[in-house]
Amino acid sequence: MPDAGSIEKKPFGTMPNGMPIDEYLLSSGDTLRLGVIAYGGIVTRIEVPDRTGKMGNVTLGFDRLEDYRARSPYFGCITGRYANRIGGAHFTLDGIQYRLPANNGANTLHGGPYALDKQVWRAREIEIADGAGLELTHRSPDGAEGFPGNLTVTVVYTVRFGNEWRIDYRATTDKPTVVNLTNHAYFNLAGNGAGNILDHRLMLNADQFTPVDAASIPRGDIAGVGGTPFDFRTATRIGDRIGEPHPQLLNGKGYDHNWVVRGGGGKMPVPAARLEDPASGRIMEVQTNQPGIQFYAGNFLDGTPPGSGGTYRKHSGLCLETQHFPDSPNKPHFPSTVLRPRETFDSTTIHRFSAA
Ligand code: BGC
Repeated sequence: MPDAGSIEKKPFGTMPNGMPIDEYLLSSGDTLRLGVIAYGGIVTRIEVPDRTGKMGNVTLGFDRLEDYRARSPYFGCITGRYANRIGGAHFTLDGIQYRLPANNGANTLHGGPYALDKQVWRAREIEIADGAGLELTHRSPDGAEGFPGNLTVTVVYTVRFGNEWRIDYRATTDKPTVVNLTNHAYFNLAGNGAGNILDHRLMLNADQFTPVDAASIPRGDIAGVGGTPFDFRTATRIGDRIGEPHPQLLNGKGYDHNWVVRGGGGKMPVPAARLEDPASGRIMEVQTNQPGIQFYAGNFLDGTPPGSGGTYRKHSGLCLETQHFPDSPNKPHFPSTVLRPRETFDSTTIHRFSAA
């Protein structure tokens, strides 16, 4: 029988209105420990052993709430109501045009400047047999950041025996709207602050990706990865091809693209990615039921401000954001992100950590 998990709670900081923010430390029955704060639903730490059993925090973050509030490059947060980009900061749904705040050139990134990552979520500890869980709920009002409908979002983080971190997202609305939710954790399996991720080996279970324009908006076509630096169908060192003059790598300033998960977009999670750090032996496998995964190589990390692992620079961490394709509301041939009243948005992503 695996040991039961546990949750500890300790003060992390205070919001300007005096509201205290706690850090919940969720332990699985074995060795995984996950830190979560209700501000942004941010995952502050992910502690797992390397091949010698030495524990390390494999996600980038800050020690202070102030830093998450002031200048976080979306470290560990819940991202929405529309994760990733919406081109031109507008979309049309059922003949109505909705205008959104532009916060990334002319486009909307990660749901706008005051999106789900900036909200204090209601947190509730939940009991599970072989681990520990935290449920976060937020009600985003009709019109928030330009999106229609009162949207109720619930995100459940669970850690389980087998060093598994699972995320279940659910959302309901009272008006037709669009939804795309993800978690924006940056990973460095060598340890937070231990150099860059260029020596990590990545496998993406994807035959295709969605090429982008110079502003990182999908052009609309779906391209095969064969013969390009976007072919990660067999595990490949990230640094091997990142500097190639491929037009798509120039557009993304490196890897910052959405891959089409083979067999994704159904009910059940399927393997999407496997990341390995040969030096520490740490491995992370990602499964999802989402149709896409954004691999972002931390191209825009610029050293400010110092975080809990020291100064984060370009490629100090990478994101594997399971999601719908960017700009789907303006690309009717992409899998639909429309959510209507009486429907439930339902998404699951599972991260499994091990070492070899
Ligand atoms: C995007 C990057 C962006 C980053 C912000 C990622 O999801 O793909 O282009 O710079 O988020 O931290």
